[in-house]
Amino acid sequence: MSTGKINVSVENIFPLIKKFLYSDHEIFLRELISNATDATLKLKHLTSIGESKVEYGNPLIEVKVDKEGKKLHIIDQGLGMTADEVEKYINQVAFSGAEEFLNKYEDSAKDAGIIGHFGLGFYSAFMVAEKVEIITKSHKDEPAAHWSCDGSPEFTLVEADKAERGTEIILHIAEDSTEFLEEGRITELLTKYNKFMPVPIKFGMKTETLPKPEDAKEEDPAPTQEVDNIINNPNPAWTKQPTDLEDADYKSFYRELYPMQFEEPLFNIHLNVDYPFNLTGILYFPKLGQDMNAQKDRIQLYQNQVFVTDNVEGIVPDFLTMLRGVIDSPDIPLNVSRSYLQADGAVKKISGYITRKVADKLKSLFNNDREDFEKKWNDIKVVIEYGMLSEEKFFEKADKFALYPTVDDTYLTWEELETKIKDTQTDKDNKLVVLYASNKDEQHAYIQSAKDKGYEVLLLDSPIVSHLIQKLETSKENVSFVRVDGDHVDNLIKKEEEQISKLSDEEKESLKTVITDAIGDTSYTVQMEAMDSEAAPFIITQPEFMRRMKEMQQTGGGGGMFGMGNMPD
Ligand code: ADP
Ligand code: MG
Repeated sequence: MSTGKINVSVENIFPLIKKFLYSDHEIFLRELISNATDATLKLKHLTSIGESKVEYGNPLIEVKVDKEGKKLHIIDQGLGMTADEVEKYINQVAFSGAEEFLNKYEDSAKDAGIIGHFGLGFYSAFMVAEKVEIITKSHKDEPAAHWSCDGSPEFTLVEADKAERGTEIILHIAEDSTEFLEEGRITELLTKYNKFMPVPIKFGMKTETLPKPEDAKEEDPAPTQEVDNIINNPNPAWTKQPTDLEDADYKSFYRELYPMQFEEPLFNIHLNVDYPFNLTGILYFPKLGQDMNAQKDRIQLYQNQVFVTDNVEGIVPDFLTMLRGVIDSPDIPLNVSRSYLQADGAVKKISGYITRKVADKLKSLFNNDREDFEKKWNDIKVVIEYGMLSEEKFFEKADKFALYPTVDDTYLTWEELETKIKDTQTDKDNKLVVLYASNKDEQHAYIQSAKDKGYEVLLLDSPIVSHLIQKLETSKENVSFVRVDGDHVDNLIKKEEEQISKLSDEEKESLKTVITDAIGDTSYTVQMEAMDSEAAPFIITQPEFMRRMKEMQQTGGGGGMFGMGNMPD
């Protein structure tokens, strides 16, 4: 037997990094700006604990395009690097200075918002550049350093004469990546990934209109001035304390997140935990109506204010992916498969926490203003009903505030419904029978007939209603749902004062035979009604289970975001 050390040669690994490090080449800019941000926040931290004596000021990060020179510059005013530090942090691939910093300043820096941790981000620059230069001046009293590398394992490191503290990264953009020399493309990337990063990012200048001086004539144009074009909001709402925010702040942040959304959200949920995991964020309930596929504007996932993705599948429970807003957590593992995510302990806790917060918010809305909650019900019910179907914990909570609308436009909780019908709507096995309609117009005659008999009729018209009913029947003991046109309606123990028909029992029977023959389909049942009722003289019913099976087949299995495939049977 022998043991040894595998020799990983940089010659072999470099092209691999270049090619496979990230599938998306565009993220190089996010990585470099993250490093610039880290460098700035580290300096801030060191000055705050007295380890650096320099003036911190109001540092900026600047991105510059030099189209003619085919170069992209990322310049920061952070802590910089000495030549030794360049050797240590840059030349050692996969050695993370961010991680080292966090370990060194363990207690004091854990909330400093440092982003990096894999020690690979910098090299993503080579996905788009044929040559990369670093010109950097440390906050320590040492000469500036100039590193450059053309993507081969050889680099040069010489002294430089940069006077200002901080780091400038220069990318010589490769032939196949010239899109990154287009201002429009860079603006797009900055808006996508860096819109809420904590250090101001400047990209060019913009013209700002000033108020007219008092003595200006009407035809005089308003004066203008050139100012830095700052592309980000370094203090987005979710990083603040809920107590410091007003309703209007939440609404304006919604518009900042979704500039193309003109409809206001119904309400929001501010997420804020630091134990046992770190998570902040704001979720919004949009007006959904019946539209389960209104998924264009989705929840955005951030890590320390850096945009990561707007696909939060596996991180928030499926039923909440219809919401909008932001989740920011450094504790969500990235670059792993979705199925791994779902099995990850931390992610499970996060998902459970979010579910609980959403349920608690709904509960408090219901308790505090029932009338308003009823008004919103139609716009939020798909989320709640879907949640009740798919998450047992949510079901238990939602059972207290989920509403069941009636055909008379009133809303009942389950408990209220039970109290209301327990004496009038039971069958011979003493089972509670919940009558419902799914379409007021189509089932008008049936509804009328049930109401004449003194029954309460619900109006359940959401797209997943057959699944919800199934769920309620299995979770609640001794309850069955029957649609008003179902044949079980007849089995109910009727109210005391039966309605008197103008027809005798024999007349009814013979009329029933005539009609049954005329229909000629044995899966339907003809049911004679009291002739003096406002409803039809007879109704035709179909067994509940037959209709339901058909419906479940239609909404089941198939596509759509609901993927009913994993619904409980
Ligand atoms: P990570 O950010 O995960 O630590 P990177 O590969 O992105 O790894 O960067 C490696 C290290 O290089 C950083 O941790 C940091 O020490 C150093 N570095 C990179 N960019 C800068 C910069 N703009 N200013 C100062 N140091 C930097
Ligand atoms: Mg980094």
